[in-house]
Amino acid sequence: MKFGGTSVKDAGRIRGMIDIVGSEDLSQGLVVVCSAMKGVTDDLIRAAHDAAAGLDAYTEVFDAIRLRHHKAVFDLLPEESANTTWAGIESQLLELQEILHGVYLIRECSLRTQDLVMSFGERLNNQVCAAYACTKNMKATYVDARLLIVTDDAYGNGMVDFTESYQRISRYFEQLWAGGSKNQLAFVAGFIAATKDGITTTLGRNGSDYSASILGAGLNVQDIEIWTDVDGVLSCDPRLVKQAFVIDDLSVEEAMEMSYFGAEVLHPYTMIPAVEKNIPLWIKNTMNPAVRGTKIAKECGQSRHDVTGLAVVKDVALINVVGGGMIGTRGTASRIFAALLKAGTNVIMISQASSEHSISIVVKKNEANHAVTVLRHELTSAIQGRLIQAVELVPALDIVSIIGASMKGKPGVSGRLFTALGNSRINILAIAQGSSEMNISCVIEAKDREQALNSIHQAFFPEAHA
Ligand code: ADP
Ligand code: ASP
Ligand code: MG
Repeated sequence: MKFGGTSVKDAGRIRGMIDIVGSEDLSQGLVVVCSAMKGVTDDLIRAAHDAAAGLDAYTEVFDAIRLRHHKAVFDLLPEESANTTWAGIESQLLELQEILHGVYLIRECSLRTQDLVMSFGERLNNQVCAAYACTKNMKATYVDARLLIVTDDAYGNGMVDFTESYQRISRYFEQLWAGGSKNQLAFVAGFIAATKDGITTTLGRNGSDYSASILGAGLNVQDIEIWTDVDGVLSCDPRLVKQAFVIDDLSVEEAMEMSYFGAEVLHPYTMIPAVEKNIPLWIKNTMNPAVRGTKIAKECGQSRHDVTGLAVVKDVALINVVGGGMIGTRGTASRIFAALLKAGTNVIMISQASSEHSISIVVKKNEANHAVTVLRHELTSAIQGRLIQAVELVPALDIVSIIGASMKGKPGVSGRLFTALGNSRINILAIAQGSSEMNISCVIEAKDREQALNSIHQAFFPEAHA
């Protein structure tokens, strides 16, 4: 069971989480993965950045983090247990304070250091949760995920070494549950991992979902439950479309597309370990535990709609590489992508007109300027030889996508999408459809985001808007 930041954001929510955990049959073996308290990861990043910029304000951010944990510990635990738990937490906070002071002195915070700073959020919170569970007559232990999940040294976004991680996970739990009694409940810090050498890494923002899935797959569990603050995966981000409704069943591919194309309810990699071991994933609501939630599995019933859901990737930019000289010329795309690799740019979406006159590449807004500079530099000879006329940047865009396995082979779906956007007078800057026919994506101006999603949602799910 994984509980996200909102579900463990303070003493009240931690109590709610433990009620849910306590209603399980704990003799079967249960692993709980908690996130940091909501907002703490952002605060830790802010503290590190302030410190690196030489701003004293980092100490205030640190004090606020300290206070939140202090309050949770003393709200939740009886005095004696609170004092012992706090002593442990306090000594780790002291370490965090020293690290931040170090960053402040050297005015520099590498991604490696930032991972270490961020790791405190999950580490501290899971210790608080485990201590509280113990006061509720559960046998609970805190487990540092850095002992279990191994990644490479791509700080900020570690790539998991599954063979090594699965070995460590089974070894650890064989010992914890030695003798066959599995009633020892484990609280494992989400989001964090370590390299083979034990240097702290993270799995990317929102990565606790992925941690839970890796642990579940490593232990071949019956199912993996992701507990969050909505009733399941919805047909669209409910903050943008009021009428969004719960999708009861979702195929693994659909869930991957939804999360890759912006539905932050799930980290996009979460499905990978689960599907490999054929373990179903459930998305459930901590504020509404009685509701069934969404089941994500390899086999799932066909959606009764042509489209299963909508998603949006915010804050992207479009790079258009335009030039008559690209027509029929071999290797242009390869040179463009080599340049983007050199720039360290992650390409989210590509589209090329069949005239080959232009290639459109969608990247994150904050990577766009650098990507354009590198592209212009790497393509200098083609630009001078007039094979490429321009490398243009169009900022302030979003990608909106419709996703669903039932679209495959069904004519007219894209027509309905474009009609919906056209009727709302929304301009489309680029379009892409994967050959899997599981998604159609359009690039639009960011200012049109809500209007676009609402009109598309209404076009495909009219009954939700009736
Ligand atoms: P957690 O802290 O539990 O990991 P997140 O904030 O990461 O939760 O993800 C849950 C949030 O994702 C929801 O509150 C909702 O606003 C947002 N969200 C975006 N798209 C969707 C979607 N399609 N279905 C459900 N929630 C979505
Ligand atoms: N706390 C981390 C984040 O905010 C990981 C997570 O919540 O899943 O990104
Ligand atoms: Mg999340």
